[in-house]
Amino acid sequence: MFTDPAIPGQVFPDHVDLVVEAAAMMTVLAAQRLERIDEMRREALHEAARHGRGLTEVVERGIRLELAAALRVTEHAAGSLLAFAEAVVHTHPAVLASMGRARMSERHAEILVAAMWELEPAFHAQVLEPGIALAEAEPVGTFRRRLRALIDRVRSATLTERYEQAVSKRRVVVEPDDDGMGWLHLYAPMVAIHAAHSRATVIAKTVTADEADTRTLDQARVDAVLDLLIDGSVDTYAEQARGVRASVFVTVPVLALLHESDASRAAAGIDAPAVEGIGPIPLSVARELAGGARGWTRVLTHPETGMVLSVGRDQYRPPPALQKLVKWRADRCMAPGCGMPASRCDVDHHVDWALGGHTELTNLGPLCEGHHTVRHHTDWTIEQVPGSGGAILWTSPSGRRYLVEPERAVPAFRPVSSADAPF
Ligand SMILES: [Zn+2]
Repeated sequence: MFTDPAIPGQVFPDHVDLVVEAAAMMTVLAAQRLERIDEMRREALHEAARHGRGLTEVVERGIRLELAAALRVTEHAAGSLLAFAEAVVHTHPAVLASMGRARMSERHAEILVAAMWELEPAFHAQVLEPGIALAEAEPVGTFRRRLRALIDRVRSATLTERYEQAVSKRRVVVEPDDDGMGWLHLYAPMVAIHAAHSRATVIAKTVTADEADTRTLDQARVDAVLDLLIDGSVDTYAEQARGVRASVFVTVPVLALLHESDASRAAAGIDAPAVEGIGPIPLSVARELAGGARGWTRVLTHPETGMVLSVGRDQYRPPPALQKLVKWRADRCMAPGCGMPASRCDVDHHVDWALGGHTELTNLGPLCEGHHTVRHHTDWTIEQVPGSGGAILWTSPSGRRYLVEPERAVPAFRPVSSADAPF
């Protein structure tokens, strides 16, 4: 929006407003298209029944072909549209209503409906309403993650049971591919998969740090995994690559450990223990890891006294513990909708160090390389909202404001003055 001093009191839409308006109209039309697709299907089914054609599958195929031909899309795409239309018109009309008011985009609706399809019907009622609220508030990437977390939380009450069943199905599968290549699939507990991948990555990074090594990280990672599996060792690797162990963050709400089972924890409304980038794990697994297994960095979501939260103006580079905390809190790049994991981000001083910014939790947040550049070299500005626990307010060049909340809340820590800091 902008105003013209020549015409006081009048507010004109700017270019961003016009784009937003067109997008809203597209969403409203998309909702209408879905209603019409479903009407078309119902009418065709009705006609077929009237003519005594009982082979529903063949009739459905005919409808799919009709829609595909009319829209000039593949039959597969037409089939997806028909199923999506049926879901929003009949099963989840609240989603269609939200689209009809341009409150959520068609993409949000697709993600929500796909998630509901995968979800056991018993959980539908608990997920749909908060899912719609998320779709109406969050950008696609954030929405997808928060919806996943919501579903994980709802389902985690029966986590142990489902986990034990799933673990019994662990296996290794070989899948041939073209050109003399193939895939090796491992179906195993995600915690172990994550640890294995993390170790392979650290080994690959260590060996490719040598400039003479021209392999990509992907190539070096595969070589490390094969060396370990085939020869059982990486003896030929440099010393520093051999000694590495996985480093995986496990978040364990301490209160959760006091509960006997996942069901009793869920009943008490306490989040399940989780592994970074994976989601909830059963209490039994978390207890094992919290017991001090090597290579696991425990982040207890309870004050660990003495943690350094600020080094003020003493040093520019945040100490490792502070960096870890900043990244753990955000989990992702703190730009609107960005999904880049915090582990691959830079830590940004929101108030520039050069302008007197402090190296402390309330002035730091992870940004991916791209968004770090945007923030420093364009007219976008950012600030951390005081007292918000790390929320970042972005202001666009056109003056629009977007609030990005961190994924996790850091509990109230006892502040430690920088004089006590061990750094
Ligand atoms: Zn980013």
